[in-house]
Amino acid sequence: MNERMIRIRGARSHNLQTVDLDLPRGALTVFAGVSGSGKSSLVFDTIAAEAGHQVNETYPPFLRNRLPKWTRPEADEITGLSPVVVIDQRRLGGNARSTVGTVTDTWTYLRLLYSRIGTPQLGESNRFSFNDPAGMCPTCSGLGETVEIDTAKFLDPDRSLREAAILLPGFADDGYWQSKYIDAGCFPTDLPVREWTEDQRLALLYGGEYAERLDPKPPKGFESLVAWFERIYLRTSDTLSEHKQRAVDRFTRSGRCPDCRGERLNAEARAVTVRGRTIGELALVEVAELAGLVAAVTEPAVAPVVAALTERLRAMDAIGLGYLHLGRATATLSGGESQRIKTVKHLGSSLVEMLYIFDEPTVGLHPHDVDAMTGLLKRLRDKGNTVLVVEHDPAVMAVADQIVEIGPDAGAGGGRVVFQGPFAALRTADTPTAKALASRAPERREPREAAGAVTVAHASRNNLRDVTVDLPTGVLTVLTGVAGSGKSSLAAELVAQHGAITVDQRPVGANRRSTPVTYTGIAAPVRRLFAKASGLPAKFFSANSEGGCPECKGLGVVYTDLAFMDGQETVCESCGGRRFSDEALRHRVDGLTIADVDDLTIADALDRLADPAIRRGLRDLDRVGLGYLRLGQPLTTLSGGECQRVKIAKELRDAAAPSLYVLDEPTTGLHLRDTDTLLDVLDQLVDKGHTVVVIEHNLDVIRRADWVVDLGPGAGRHGGRVLYEGPVAGLRGTPTAAALGHD
Ligand code: ADP
Ligand code: ADP
Ligand code: ZN
Ligand code: ZN
Repeated sequence: MNERMIRIRGARSHNLQTVDLDLPRGALTVFAGVSGSGKSSLVFDTIAAEAGHQVNETYPPFLRNRLPKWTRPEADEITGLSPVVVIDQRRLGGNARSTVGTVTDTWTYLRLLYSRIGTPQLGESNRFSFNDPAGMCPTCSGLGETVEIDTAKFLDPDRSLREAAILLPGFADDGYWQSKYIDAGCFPTDLPVREWTEDQRLALLYGGEYAERLDPKPPKGFESLVAWFERIYLRTSDTLSEHKQRAVDRFTRSGRCPDCRGERLNAEARAVTVRGRTIGELALVEVAELAGLVAAVTEPAVAPVVAALTERLRAMDAIGLGYLHLGRATATLSGGESQRIKTVKHLGSSLVEMLYIFDEPTVGLHPHDVDAMTGLLKRLRDKGNTVLVVEHDPAVMAVADQIVEIGPDAGAGGGRVVFQGPFAALRTADTPTAKALASRAPERREPREAAGAVTVAHASRNNLRDVTVDLPTGVLTVLTGVAGSGKSSLAAELVAQHGAITVDQRPVGANRRSTPVTYTGIAAPVRRLFAKASGLPAKFFSANSEGGCPECKGLGVVYTDLAFMDGQETVCESCGGRRFSDEALRHRVDGLTIADVDDLTIADALDRLADPAIRRGLRDLDRVGLGYLRLGQPLTTLSGGECQRVKIAKELRDAAAPSLYVLDEPTTGLHLRDTDTLLDVLDQLVDKGHTVVVIEHNLDVIRRADWVVDLGPGAGRHGGRVLYEGPVAGLRGTPTAAALGHD
């Protein structure tokens, strides 16, 4: 029997304060609340984790080991769950063989179409697969690209061999390889390469007939630099070490495969056409246009294939992916694009009564495209599924059946359900979300004066159409435009031409021991406080040194290796995960033990620890809205948006000379209220003389900008032009202007 509710009793993961909640099944519910209030703890770490765990329990143990691991949440009871699909923003990644077409299954349909009605008839559909030897181009092995060696980068013309003119890795001064070429006896060793004869230079690079013409000739077994490079770097297995990959990237250029011209398929497959077009050509056509081409195919033999393929392509177009082509490698997609691609897969699914969970599906979407995304969420619900969405965008809240707000504040000040009901009722409630909705800041009336300008000249990366723009320095500039219009491409060009600093969402702190304490460098001042209070040396208060629990050596956890299963990590029984020895825990500062300090939030620590070095270290993390993080929380648990804010804080503290910063959607994961805090921080960076350029869809950020560069008008080849550059107040006649209410 199916229950009508998801029933949660006594949920206590992270900061949740014994939450009881009933959620209607078959409904669309949006979870709101300030950053750090506990939305993820409830939706991902409690509901999704329990659903995943319960499904895994139904499999035999040997299979369970191969399934994704779900840590069971801390809760008294959770019932009424279904199999769960979590659609998050983790990038799809994948190798060069994973494309938009392969991950959405549209390529499979297209292959079927060609195998059934293509002329001439070829037969099986794997003959159109670039990942199958039967179909792949032999020259590029189905990658569509070949790697060309860029010999211009091999030599520094202003140096001689003895001055390390050979720039390849491994040729550093006095190295083994260096001396091999110096000792060859056929090259001038003290003359800058610029002054060599053409034959000498070509002989060094390519050997062969050029080497034969030299006098004296090179010794037997002479290996040219190109031959050397191919042997060391290119004639190896598919997977290169990171170090080798960097070398390959530096000394090669990848270009379209001369044989298949990027279509990835062999000559046989490339000769087959449907309505005069090859399947390889279709891989390069934008999805929006492809949908029309496919729909025009009317042969009865393929009617079901055409119907399924058209539906899926139209769905992709509808959620703002119409500018992609099926041949695009998934590794090059952004987080928001990846999430929308994953959504497409599930749209075609005929499973019902599933539990779908989305993490901010509007990331990367212009207000203009948000409607399509909400339409899609509603369609999933209408098929009989339960849809839970963590989201800050009021446009998504407005279409939900109900809103659940977690709060009221972050960390220990949150973790409760402060509102449950329809959006209309939220507007009149007394919660942080309701208050923020009621008070949005007005547009900037008087833009700050620019200090100067940097010019991005003749940008033609990706879809940009020879764009030249002057960006004012010393102010806040926002790059706007619909998804796929070219914002990231322009930002990448700015970075390439002017060496701007990109403040991205990649993880901070690679190892498990990095926490806000280690990252901000306050560990030493904290230990000094305890040393002063106790009269003991500071090392007695370091978990990694004398102060550590002897059982787990200050890790707080112990590892057990089990014969057939993955190693297990369990909390250390001796210290209960507190990491410190009993001796270290005997001493207190302001009533707190050294372990209690790790449990403080940054905001609490600022209140309670008066030491100036500690305050300096923590102040900027609090200013960027991360005051709710606990001092001992591993940085590996932070979300992408939180990592980006940690980096902003670091720049606030460290940057001395005026710098040029580029940020991609810094409001990701931010509640309306926290957006205001972030804007204050960006203003502070500008007031210190820095230039800040952000890619944003968030209207509050656009309103506060001094300068706007609006790209478009559409996506992909329909975009790539500058529609407007100037103060925000003057923006007219574009989708962004419409979203701001300017028209
Ligand atoms: P939200 O999703 O609303 O931004 P979270 O659920 O991520 O909030 O966080 C709620 C609280 O739980 C915060 O104080 C956060 O620092 C803490 N927290 C989140 N993840 C972890 C974790 N893996 N371990 C310990 N504390 C965590
Ligand atoms: P925005 O940032 O406005 O969403 P992008 O600059 O990411 O837009 O994309 C602009 C166009 O360039 C789109 O058609 C996109 O598909 C294409 N594009 C972006 N990155 C790549 C890439 N790495 N390889 C091929 N095409 C790309
Ligand atoms: Zn090829
Ligand atoms: Zn221990």
